[in-house]
Amino acid sequence: MKISREIYQGIAEHSISELPNEACGYIAGKGDTAEKQYRLTNADASCEHFSFIPEEQFATLKDARKHGLALIAVYHSHPSTPARMSDEDIRLANDTEMRYLIYSVKEKSLKCFRIDDNKNVTEEELIILEM
Ligand SMILES: [Zn+2]
Repeated sequence: MKISREIYQGIAEHSISELPNEACGYIAGKGDTAEKQYRLTNADASCEHFSFIPEEQFATLKDARKHGLALIAVYHSHPSTPARMSDEDIRLANDTEMRYLIYSVKEKSLKCFRIDDNKNVTEEELIILEM
């Protein structure tokens, strides 16, 4: 997927601001291009997992649609582990259309993953657009 430097930085900043807990949110866009970042609340307030608040998810979806965008990625941070899908992340991931972005605060890196019907994880290239 394609992501602007600005949104990339926004995910990194959100991840750092939520420490020691995981940060989470959505990326809205068109096709495979990210256009808008939504910072959501981690209802778990945990350093090892996250969950969304349904009302916030709904408001995010509504706002994205209002802007003519779709939710193309979910992101969350790993405060002290690498940017890869944990067993729990794979268990919770069930949308084959969605991209799963993980920002590792420790590694200062963002990675993008997809999941298929058999829960096979593949990494998708992230193209950073300098704008
Ligand atoms: Zn995770």
